[in-house]
Amino acid sequence: MIIKDKEFGEVVVRRNALARGIKFSVSTSGRLAMSVPKYTSEFLAKRFLNANRKIIREKLPIKDPSSQRARDYQKKVLMKKAREYLPYRLEYYAKLYGYKYDKCRLTHANTRWGSCSSNRTISLNIGLMKLPEVLRDYVILHELAHLNHMDHSKAFWAEVGMHDKNYKAHEKKLKMFNPGV
Ligand SMILES: [Zn+2]
Repeated sequence: MIIKDKEFGEVVVRRNALARGIKFSVSTSGRLAMSVPKYTSEFLAKRFLNANRKIIREKLPIKDPSSQRARDYQKKVLMKKAREYLPYRLEYYAKLYGYKYDKCRLTHANTRWGSCSSNRTISLNIGLMKLPEVLRDYVILHELAHLNHMDHSKAFWAEVGMHDKNYKAHEKKLKMFNPGV
């Protein structure tokens, strides 16, 4: 459920069967999120929100409602760009170097640029669209190499190095950016 609040904007309320008490956190969009026990009513949730207003304001980096909406918009734009680009770029490099993957999934996780699962699904973060092309390509080549090596062993890096001679510098540079949208 979503509570519209004058101060915090849209507050995301998640009913959780396992929750004992009420917990406040910040969602990836910068919205205030509340985890509440399963049968908590909207009335009760609002009451808790009001009772904790001061501590939320002081402790949690809630974005103001207009930047919450700006973030939604930015994410939508990135997703559109990503959809029109990343699957094709992945396919291009896979064909070029003879890799076979099963599926390409687009994600917007906050912690990683990409991943490769044992069922040969490659996930790419839509935040890649904010990176310079050379780093974007490096992430794609990195995930493709994981199709043959599901670890970061010497053999894995040797394979990455065959397709991207500057992979060490690219890996380092990548750390300067945040995958979160
Ligand atoms: Zn890796």
